[in-house]
Amino acid sequence: MIQIIDKSQCCGCTACASVCEIGAITMQADVMGFLYPVVDTNKCVDCGLCEKVCAFNDNYDTSLNLPEPYVYGARHKDMAEVETSRSGAAFIAISDYVLEHGGVVYGAGYADHFRVVHKRATTKDERDEFKGSKYVQSDIRGIFRQVKKDLKDGLTVLFSGTPCQTAGLNSYIGKKLREHLVLVDIVCHGVPGPNLWRDYIDYLEKKHGNRICWVNFRDKQKYGWTAHHETFKFEGGE
Ligand SMILES: Cc1cc2nc3c(=O)[nH]c(=O)nc-3n(C[C@H](O)[C@H](O)[C@H](O)COP(=O)(O)OP(=O)(O)OC[C@H]3O[C@@H](n4cnc5c(N)ncnc54)[C@H](O)[C@@H]3O)c2cc1C
Ligand code: SF4
Ligand code: SF4
Repeated sequence: MIQIIDKSQCCGCTACASVCEIGAITMQADVMGFLYPVVDTNKCVDCGLCEKVCAFNDNYDTSLNLPEPYVYGARHKDMAEVETSRSGAAFIAISDYVLEHGGVVYGAGYADHFRVVHKRATTKDERDEFKGSKYVQSDIRGIFRQVKKDLKDGLTVLFSGTPCQTAGLNSYIGKKLREHLVLVDIVCHGVPGPNLWRDYIDYLEKKHGNRICWVNFRDKQKYGWTAHHETFKFEGGE
């Protein structure tokens, strides 16, 4: 069974919890809010699937990788899309294609007052919530199983997330269902902890005596490409 001895060897992707059919694994938050798998040893039957699926495992399957990467640079033709995306809006162009062909899109959005979570979208309006970087680990619990169900139902699925999340999903889905799964992983240096983000929102709301109603981790329209300012709007209009 999976055991997290060194936290640097786990990104909280949930592949192990998703693969455990008997529900012996739950993802539990540490003091920073990062999710790690915890095994209920009374339920575990020692099948080893959770260890096998983990992308940090030496046996991680790379057989579908290209022998050499192809590299293209791209920017969306519509500048309104570029201005409201973190970079060149390639995600919007690729996900537009998938949605226009009847597929579904998964990406990082918000729930419960700006908690960052992965969600499923079937329309462009729903998908637009995923635009832009959220510099926090997204809660992805339950999503891998939903993706597998969509693929089994014959849908094309685009999943967008950090490279470690996409690596975990790739391993969990396996070769048989992989053909109709489009993985979009972002360039990423790592994710800050969700509790830091929650505490920062609490701090700002106390300081301004008002509730936050809009968040942008990096507002290109107001501050341009290079600045790294978070922008918040409060219910009072400030
Ligand atoms: C945690 C994090 C670290 C980053 N580190 C770097 C870096 O080191 N160097 C660099 O050049 N760029 C970095 N970026 C920026 C990122 O690579 C660009 O935002 C992305 O390439 C933008 O592409 P876009 O304009 O097509 O899409 P955008 O519309 O800006 O965003 C595309 C996708 O990002 C996904 N996403 C956003 N937040 C998260 C999240 N918390 N977890 C998982 N997926 C998320 C969404 O699902 C969305 O579909 C980072 C972004 C994040 C979220
Ligand atoms: S499968 Fe994902 S969540 Fe499970 S131990 Fe490996 S990295 Fe962590
Ligand atoms: S070894 Fe098998 S039963 Fe035990 S936690 Fe891992 S997947 Fe579940």
